[in-house]
Amino acid sequence: MSQSSLFNAGETLEPGSRAQVLVPYPLSRAYDYLVPQNMPVAAGDYVRVPLGKRDTIGVVWTTDAADAKVDPAKLKSVLQKFTFDPMPQVHRQFIEWVARYTMSDVGSVLKMSLSAPEALQPPKSVPVFTLTENIPVKLPASRQKIIDLLKDGIPRRAVDIARAAGCSAAVVRSMAAVGQLQTLAGAPPAPCEMLDIAENRLSFSPDQKNAADALQKLAAANQYAAVLLDGVTGSGKTEVYFEAIAEALRNGKQALILLPEISLSAQFLERFERRFGVQPALWHSEVPTAQRRVTWTGVAEGKTRVVVGARSALFLPFADLGLIVVDEEHDASYKQEEGVLYNARDMAIVRARLGSFPIVLVSATPSLETMVNVQQGKYTYLNLPSRHAGARMPDINVINLKVTPPERQKFIAPPLQKALHEVFEAKEQSLLFLNRRGYAPLTLCRTCGHRFQCPSCAAWLVEHKRHSRLQCHHCGFAQAVPRNCPSCQAEDSFAACGPGVERIQEEVQLLIPEARTFILASDVITSPGMISAAVHDIEDHKYDIIIGTQIIAKGHHFPSLTLVGVIDADLGLAGGDLRAGERTFQLLHQVSGRAGRAEKPGRVFIQTYMPEQTVIKALAKNDRDEFLAVEAREREKALMPPFGRLAALILSDPDENKLDVFCRTLAQKAPRYDDIRVLGPAPAPMGFLRGKHRRRFLVKAGKNLPIQKYLAEWLGNVKAPSSLQLKVDIDPQSFF
Ligand code: ADP
Ligand code: ZN
Repeated sequence: MSQSSLFNAGETLEPGSRAQVLVPYPLSRAYDYLVPQNMPVAAGDYVRVPLGKRDTIGVVWTTDAADAKVDPAKLKSVLQKFTFDPMPQVHRQFIEWVARYTMSDVGSVLKMSLSAPEALQPPKSVPVFTLTENIPVKLPASRQKIIDLLKDGIPRRAVDIARAAGCSAAVVRSMAAVGQLQTLAGAPPAPCEMLDIAENRLSFSPDQKNAADALQKLAAANQYAAVLLDGVTGSGKTEVYFEAIAEALRNGKQALILLPEISLSAQFLERFERRFGVQPALWHSEVPTAQRRVTWTGVAEGKTRVVVGARSALFLPFADLGLIVVDEEHDASYKQEEGVLYNARDMAIVRARLGSFPIVLVSATPSLETMVNVQQGKYTYLNLPSRHAGARMPDINVINLKVTPPERQKFIAPPLQKALHEVFEAKEQSLLFLNRRGYAPLTLCRTCGHRFQCPSCAAWLVEHKRHSRLQCHHCGFAQAVPRNCPSCQAEDSFAACGPGVERIQEEVQLLIPEARTFILASDVITSPGMISAAVHDIEDHKYDIIIGTQIIAKGHHFPSLTLVGVIDADLGLAGGDLRAGERTFQLLHQVSGRAGRAEKPGRVFIQTYMPEQTVIKALAKNDRDEFLAVEAREREKALMPPFGRLAALILSDPDENKLDVFCRTLAQKAPRYDDIRVLGPAPAPMGFLRGKHRRRFLVKAGKNLPIQKYLAEWLGNVKAPSSLQLKVDIDPQSFF
């Protein structure tokens, strides 16, 4: 990894000289500006500069004004310098690194770091509200909701409280007027500033203690190290890495915990609070603007000590970051698939190297990439082999649907039906897992065979009974279900093909009418707040049978849940995705891990038409390492990641003809080298998406070849028509 020598921190520019300022727009470099009298600037300073007809915030990128060719008379001046701690040098290096690696404009990467631009303005003194010393009891539900919201200790403006609690701002003000809340003026304090970092009070098992000691040593050492913390669900990994966090904090550093967005639920936050006495600073897409602003400021000033966030939190300009934890490191949602295409787990490794501090990857089902890095000695390996307090791993039963099929138009086979009954009788909970939202993935006309298709995508419309609509899961298109077939006009002649979670719920209701059922899917549960509420309801046993998509698979702990049924284990194995087997294993293993996490033992039923598949066999034997070994051998033979490198080009255009002409030109111009192969152009599996036709190239290179350099050489040679969009995806995760 090359360290950029661009940055000469500390040198202050004298007025009359130039500074290069990077602005958060899709530009590939910083531009020269004049530094006015009485406004000396240094690298990292946040400034306001003119840009075209407008002005924008930006960051002084370098101070050795390189572009001396530009006539000073043509240069514009820096307009304003913010009185704010400069962006640390290491963070600027990180931005440059990510831009180079992902082949993105450095300005676009900067934009991800300037994610709360309001933070730079001096705080307006808007009153904020917080709890009083003596929290009032016995309030009406609407007021109690406000109290609960503020228990995280973060003061908020009346409007933000009102929005979150679903009341009017007047309620908040009147609570303050009668002393149920207190009013603070001016800038709210930084979140997560004072933590309890004393030694842990839990008594760790010997394995936990070993792992925690090793992590603490690394966290105290101020140098780069990557660690995999491997352990089955419920083995106490979280408690162990909390101790690494505590050590980093004792060392005066900040810490970052990355989680898949939907795992950022109250359950995790409560545990954090139990350990550290306060809630962490949260960072994800739903955090309201005012809170983003205080958090961004707190992080940049070094006051906020721990951030728990989704992948975007990696781009916060930490003043002194000293530890990153990537929980569920195998999770596909770490890859950002829009804008700058980056993998937050991989870029977190880069961030740790640049900052010379340790990083801990955590998983019960580590990715093959990470396991290979362990085997090659690049990562330290720590293992928690058993569940905490001796809870057993569940029994896994494979149901061969060829032998014991469900009834026609039904999807739950007899052995699973029986188990559902037993668990219901025993007053325990069941989870049915099906990774498909809605009622049915395909609707067709029984009379003429008409199929409902999205007008803008090569995809069927999915019926959602709950809204009586047909929806495209790719572009969001939706229409009401018509009475008559659009082709043959037959009335009420539609048939649903295949199941979604809504259809499974219907089947369960027929099977056990007394059971209380609940659907947990991303179109029903749209925020971490909603998932928290749902998780609490499940914990409180308000439901007997939960029907869920993959959002249920993540890290939750339900003591009375003793049965997991996988409706269609084959679903993820269709389509030629490189990681289909690996992802299916991870997902189904995680789902299975929801069963029997407390004293009661759990059972898992996996329904499949392909019981002989490696993945299913590995799940049945609960043999992860054997599965990974087979997977690794196959990838190595094919020179696929992590044994070779991939990059994808995705081209799209509304005009199919123009697209194909350009793709042919591009293919001809591909430079030829021995160890690099270009596959394509091929129609993308989603050959038509959001009204655009799509084509893909796949570049396959040896492990240590500079694939970016190759792409730069290739793409530097061609000019794409303006309507055409060309995206470069380094280390692609999705192949649609
Ligand atoms: P993982 O992160 O590996 O899934 P957790 O850290 O969530 O495991 O631990 C599972 C459960 O066991 C949690 O409720 C946790 O608080 C509890 N736990 C883990 N270690 C201990 C310990 N040493 N003493 C008491 N409870 C523990
Ligand atoms: Zn669509």
